[in-house]
Amino acid sequence: MSTVLVINSGSSSLKYQLIEMTNESVLANGLIERIGAGGDTGSSKHTVTLPGSEARSFTSEHPVADHTEAFKVMLAAFDKHGPSMAENHPVAVGHRVVHGGKRFFGPTVVTDLVKINIEDLAELAPLHNPANLDGINAAQVAFPGIPHVAVFDTAFHATLPPAAYTYAIDAGLADKYRVRRYGFHGTSHKFVSEAAAEYLERPLGELKTIVLHLGNGASACAVDGGVSVDTSMGLTPLEGLVMGTRSGDLDPAILFHLNRKAGLGFAELDELLNRKSGLLGLSGHGDMRDVVTAAGEGDADAQLALDVYLHRIKHYVGAYAAGLGGVDAIVFTAGVGENSDVVRSGALAGLEAFGIAVDPERNTSGHRGRRRISPDESPVAVLVIPTNEELEIARQCLTVI
Ligand code: ADP
Repeated sequence: MSTVLVINSGSSSLKYQLIEMTNESVLANGLIERIGAGGDTGSSKHTVTLPGSEARSFTSEHPVADHTEAFKVMLAAFDKHGPSMAENHPVAVGHRVVHGGKRFFGPTVVTDLVKINIEDLAELAPLHNPANLDGINAAQVAFPGIPHVAVFDTAFHATLPPAAYTYAIDAGLADKYRVRRYGFHGTSHKFVSEAAAEYLERPLGELKTIVLHLGNGASACAVDGGVSVDTSMGLTPLEGLVMGTRSGDLDPAILFHLNRKAGLGFAELDELLNRKSGLLGLSGHGDMRDVVTAAGEGDADAQLALDVYLHRIKHYVGAYAAGLGGVDAIVFTAGVGENSDVVRSGALAGLEAFGIAVDPERNTSGHRGRRRISPDESPVAVLVIPTNEELEIARQCLTVI
């Protein structure tokens, strides 16, 4: 048996998957929420699912003070319900780390120096890197003696050419403060673009693909021969597509205007653009399901939110098709991309002149799993491919240990 434990550590949550790598099956899938919650809501919630022929799910509530304790709770659940750590002890632990800056281009075995670098990069991802590091430190206590591997969300975009990653601002200032496009969701874009080549039975090296990762956060990526050449998120995950609560692209002068006229300071603008904008800001609903339902019931704000969301996607599809010099496949993934036929057909409506079409029946078939939703004769394959970032992290772990 050769298993890898994959950890996605947030400031108050710990998601984990234990994956058996010989057949890439999930042995346990868990989430511990509200870590460090005090007061009346002092209990953390732990949900673990043990898939397999007789899938079982358990939920329990405990006070969990920090990530070190969260790992104890996880191991106690394994002891009680399985899988047995004696038989399935991981050969490595893979950690999702959001920001790898310009330093980390691939999966990296964690050393003290790597941790110092992850901490240093926290200024570029203040909400994520410190929480990722808490997870690494706690996991090293819980699983000593095996390699811990950091897999960075930014790494897949290390191949962006300078023309795509450079912002047209003062070059010295940009260099000093590390201002450039880094891009995120790289683990997903990599997994999905490779899966698309597999699905189409075409060599990855000859495929021009646009991946649309549409979840709570959303980003587009232009992939040329398996290599990321452009992506919509930038210095931070705020740029690009419209998201659940994030604005995506804006005229930067809007910030000066709101500062001068509405008296909003930096902290308020940060909060406004990251947490109160996007679908939520436009319609009052941050979840695409609610937006689609409300729009269907004639809510004009929800309809506008949906229209703006789709308009922005189409904008990037056009830009990336031009940048790639053609496109063989457009792939939808993540919560919205995998589930919303309305978004898929709306985003690509009217692009028939470019060889891009969605077959209504295939699009609404309700099938899960990898599928083609364009007509067979259509020059551009439009696909839906469920992402699997945990599996990608586990696979990348095995390449470096
Ligand atoms: P995250 O970015 O947090 O990983 P996911 O990729 O799981 O998010 O996507 C979550 C989002 O997917 C939800 O906020 C919801 O808007 C959207 N979603 C899930 N199911 C549907 C659906 N059937 N139709 C439209 N949107 C959906």
